[in-house]
Amino acid sequence: MMMSGSAGHDSPIDLLITNGRILDGTGNSWFHGDVAIDKGIIIELGPGLKYQAKRTIDAKGSIVSPGFIDVHTHIEDDERKLPTADNFIYDGVTTVVTGNCGSSNTDIGAYFRWIDSAKLSINVASLIGHNDVRKAVLGRANREATTAELQRMQELVEKAMREGAVGLSTGLIYIPGTYTKTPEIISLAKVASRYHGVYATHMRDEGDSVTYAINEAITIGREAAIPVEISHFKLSGQQNWGRSKETIAMVENARKQGIDVTIDQYPYTASSTSISTLIPDEILADAQDSIKARLQRPEIRKYVVNSMLKRLKKRKLKHFSYAVVAWHAADTTYNGKSIEEINRMKGRKHNAKAEAETVMDIMINGGAGAVFHGMGEEDIRRIMKYPYNMFASDASIRVPNAGRPHPRGYGTNARVLAKYVRDEKVISLEEAVRRMTSLPAQKFKLKDRGLLKPGMAADILIFNENEVQDISTYENPHAYSKGFRFVIVNGIITVDNEKHNGTRAGMVLHGPGREAGGRP
Ligand SMILES: [Zn+2]
Repeated sequence: MMMSGSAGHDSPIDLLITNGRILDGTGNSWFHGDVAIDKGIIIELGPGLKYQAKRTIDAKGSIVSPGFIDVHTHIEDDERKLPTADNFIYDGVTTVVTGNCGSSNTDIGAYFRWIDSAKLSINVASLIGHNDVRKAVLGRANREATTAELQRMQELVEKAMREGAVGLSTGLIYIPGTYTKTPEIISLAKVASRYHGVYATHMRDEGDSVTYAINEAITIGREAAIPVEISHFKLSGQQNWGRSKETIAMVENARKQGIDVTIDQYPYTASSTSISTLIPDEILADAQDSIKARLQRPEIRKYVVNSMLKRLKKRKLKHFSYAVVAWHAADTTYNGKSIEEINRMKGRKHNAKAEAETVMDIMINGGAGAVFHGMGEEDIRRIMKYPYNMFASDASIRVPNAGRPHPRGYGTNARVLAKYVRDEKVISLEEAVRRMTSLPAQKFKLKDRGLLKPGMAADILIFNENEVQDISTYENPHAYSKGFRFVIVNGIITVDNEKHNGTRAGMVLHGPGREAGGRP
């Protein structure tokens, strides 16, 4: 008789999971079996494993899957406040990719050393953000880079890639990304490509001009020979609802031409970003002092009101009711209220013009984070069905009770599994888990993650697909997802019987540029 697994293991292994339904992340159907884990690694997987283990978890009736990989996050700064990253851990996320939307630490090496010393509960990979690279060289200047400045930016991207960034990100609706022309991005993406990085983009437009923006992303992919990840793929503005048919077809066509384009999505019909995105770009150049000074000049206020009203009209709306303040430091009574409500609260006229003035006043008082209710459910589902779409929260580490942030930071994965897989059957469980695990791992070249198989890092979830549920809502966002009974990070139990035990076993995941040293 063959004794399964015991060879070479006279001393007990760290952890044995028995009787699970193993869903390995490939998209294949689950099968009954056990998983043996030692020193952070999956050592064997299959039915009837015979090991002595320091701890055994009976997973009878539960799914055993790889930990989820969230490819679109912004954890910078909040990891200091809450290294246990509870919102991610309770939502089944064991790895995040941060540095998205053009915003990252410019010194990736120093950032990674800090993450290593801080010890988080999640693994962290990072992109190098174009906006911060550009700010380091040109500040917030509204102009093209000189040859010398471009070279300096290339050097910064190269350094980041050699220090282990997984690619380059852009945020082309933000300052100074919005001032940047395509050739500059191509030349920086070429540097990231030499180190096998990806190009992840928050595109120039996700509404009326979305096809122009997708074409730009595809052009960059082609010209720089770099895999493209289009972030938080969506259609903004009621007038654009239904156009995901057209935009998904563009992604598919690019793939047919050999350009590796994939996308990600958060499963909600509202977006979340800075309130400043309501204001025309040209007003937002340079430092906060200059913005403040500009927004106090009557002729500029008039110009801003006009352009804001024009955009509102395009949306076929009469009020800025779709924009809800999530976090305004200067006056926290604004948090959770729409611009329309805040405007009325201040006793101003109940019209869009007065509401635009209110937005400018919020900007003068330091700006605000906001939630925008502007997407259609039909598009969410169509994008969800696309096989090369991943799920990503676009969130930070949530500090409990701070502001009224978008619920996606708490509930993205649980919501996909509860609402879209279990209740509405938009996609299957196996397919959803593949897009949460092996697809992102392959795309961002996280070699030892995203699959349950021997030799892989032991990032593992145990859950029952009938119990998983997102709890966070727009009204009461600070609520953890339920149903992930065990969350294991690098072989260490972090959620034990639905309770985060404070374990911080996460590590930095370096991109391929660190070892490869770049292509010639
Ligand atoms: Zn973004």
